[in-house]
Amino acid sequence: MNSPKPPLTIEISKSAIIHNINFVRQLIGEDVTYGSVVKGNAYGHGIEIYCKVSFEAGVKQFCTYTAHEAYRVWKVTNGKADILIMGYIDRKDLEWIIENQLEFFVFEKNRLADAIQIAKRIDKKALVHVEIETGMNRTGFPISELDDVFSLIQANQRYIKAKGICTHFAGAESIMNHPRVKKQQSKFNEVLMLLKKQNQLPKLIHSACSAAAIIYPKSIHNMVRIGIMQYGFYPNMETLINYRNKENKIEIEPKRVLSWKSSVMDIKEVKSGEFIGYGTSYLTNVPTKIAIIPVGYALGLDRNLSNLGKVLIRGQRLNIIGTINMNAVTVNITNAEDIALGDEVVLIGEQGDLEISVSSFSDLGNLPSYELLTRLPSEIPRVIVE
Ligand SMILES: *Cc1c(COP(=O)(O)O)cnc(C)c1O
Repeated sequence: MNSPKPPLTIEISKSAIIHNINFVRQLIGEDVTYGSVVKGNAYGHGIEIYCKVSFEAGVKQFCTYTAHEAYRVWKVTNGKADILIMGYIDRKDLEWIIENQLEFFVFEKNRLADAIQIAKRIDKKALVHVEIETGMNRTGFPISELDDVFSLIQANQRYIKAKGICTHFAGAESIMNHPRVKKQQSKFNEVLMLLKKQNQLPKLIHSACSAAAIIYPKSIHNMVRIGIMQYGFYPNMETLINYRNKENKIEIEPKRVLSWKSSVMDIKEVKSGEFIGYGTSYLTNVPTKIAIIPVGYALGLDRNLSNLGKVLIRGQRLNIIGTINMNAVTVNITNAEDIALGDEVVLIGEQGDLEISVSSFSDLGNLPSYELLTRLPSEIPRVIVE
């Protein structure tokens, strides 16, 4: 027997992935290294599917947050892609990483010392990107430690190479953070100048995420780390407006890659004056026809969309009523035409002439698209469509 199908299908559009790669390429220029950020299960799209398609389409460098994610990228690209781990590594995984020439951020001295020690033991060279603390106050070496860091790297050249130098901005997408980001940029530039003078400047220089690549083009240097935009979204409304107002902008825009679809599980009629579902959040004031869809917050449908969200069925935009349950949601179909059991329900995506975007979802639920996407459970199969 075929194993039973989950009640939610996530479709990944191959042509949209390729379109967005072109968009990023045009935005950053041909000579800049495109680091494709695939942390958070490729922002909910599925690391395996996303990396396979984009690697075949010419993306060579992937950035993950953990060694665990890096392992998945490594597997699906048969060890052929360049992989950069930006965050968590358990010490016992360093040997595999160095052996297979994966690259990783160093931001504190223990990891640096461990890397050198393990590289010596297995007689390989550890490839690191030195992360600088410029004001985000997350990871990164403080500038006061850089002399020591680069002396140590210099003294162990056979076993370690600083392939890159980098920093990360504390919210480049928002004008509110502008002074802070500017300060970070100038701190980073000072470090670059200093290292250049000492002839120690690593080859790859990177600071830009999606928002910075648009709002602070100077932060692009010769490598970027692009996440959200390659999945078809601007980081937020401000970035979208900034991009559309650019004088010499490129003509294309990112396209949504993913769609969510389910189906109508049950239909029934409810009298006027009845509450729908748990509690008392929706009271019918006319005889009401409802459809039950077997998707709830356990599958990533944000509970904040209770009584607010919309879905598409048979090309009609219909309201979610009542609270979203763990596994089900109710839709008001009183004024809709021809709805039958088994009909396709679009939660995000297109149907007929209508579309439900991720941002309409995330704005209503007051949830950034980043969070909405990464809440999609990884066990739901992702299927590729053209
Ligand atoms: C997530 C992340 C990025 C990518 O950010 P987007 O806004 O999705 O482009 C870049 N760099 C680091 C260090 C990150 O953690």
